[in-house]
Amino acid sequence: MGGVVARQLAPWRGTDVTTMAIDEREALQLAIDAALKSPCCKSKRGVVAWDARSASREKPVTGFNGPPPGFACDGTDACRAACGKLCVHAEIRALMLAPKDFTDLLHVKVRAGAPVPSGAPSCPDCSKSILDRGFKRVWLLHETGLRLYSAEDFHVQTLINCDLPLIRQPDGTDAPDPT
Ligand SMILES: [Zn+2]
Ligand SMILES: [Zn+2]
Repeated sequence: MGGVVARQLAPWRGTDVTTMAIDEREALQLAIDAALKSPCCKSKRGVVAWDARSASREKPVTGFNGPPPGFACDGTDACRAACGKLCVHAEIRALMLAPKDFTDLLHVKVRAGAPVPSGAPSCPDCSKSILDRGFKRVWLLHETGLRLYSAEDFHVQTLINCDLPLIRQPDGTDAPDPT
């Protein structure tokens, strides 16, 4: 992995996923490898984040979901019901490691060692953090294959799916730069 993968993932050539077949598979495999390390009893997730710009030599970073050090997932009903709050999400772990200028993030769920489709985007903690960190694109595995979202649309879809208010900055005004 490392630099070799970073170069294999670049360059980004647009939003047509059919041009990304090889790069997608590389990223997907890294995310699967990360998910396989997850100690979560409910759901094993992996994320890879990378800089898809051709000049980048930064290594991709990965994360898997799980409780923080000193805490455990025991698979009880109480643990499973609260997993979303008890486990650190794979996206957040990858975000904490990712350099500021990374562009792309791919999330995958595994079951019995194999990738399975994720549901519709549904975690506002992750979607808002991905967008806030300046990511441009989010990849999710669905029944139809890998789907590419702009980071902004990923957040919009998440808000809609969670029935949360979608409140936009008025045109012509700039929000403070969070970075
Ligand atoms: Zn969990
Ligand atoms: Zn999340």
